[in-house]
Amino acid sequence: MLSIAHGLTGAFIATKIDNPILSVPLIIAAHFLEDYIPHWDVGQGLTKKIKSHKAAFFQEIFTDFPASILLVFYFFQFQQSFSWTPWIGWFLALLPDFIEFPYIFLNWRFFPIKQLAAIHKFFHHSTPKKLLGLLPQIAVIALIYYFK
Ligand SMILES: [Zn+2]
Repeated sequence: MLSIAHGLTGAFIATKIDNPILSVPLIIAAHFLEDYIPHWDVGQGLTKKIKSHKAAFFQEIFTDFPASILLVFYFFQFQQSFSWTPWIGWFLALLPDFIEFPYIFLNWRFFPIKQLAAIHKFFHHSTPKKLLGLLPQIAVIALIYYFK
């Protein structure tokens, strides 16, 4: 999924569940669960080589990634006192993608990056249909906004 959906999910779980023994594995599991749902993200088209790595990289760095930071701020920090909790949740939720980053963009093909990328790929289901692929993510974001 997009970083905005993953990041908000992590921030949401982290702020709702105080015990990190529960929240940390739940945040990581939520990432893979969200990736399992057929979705559209900026990486769509990379495996079929419809999109270049450069285009995906710049889309992610200039849209999705900063938007995930802005939304976590808006949902969990706006007019509230600063807390690290939503940001730690945001980071953990994006960790599987951070780990996969050198595999996709730097061609790292060694242990443990290669094995972790294979696990990620196993759970990942994408769709080239933008609207259909964005709907579950909009639903996730709306639910988080409602229940935060
Ligand atoms: Zn992922």
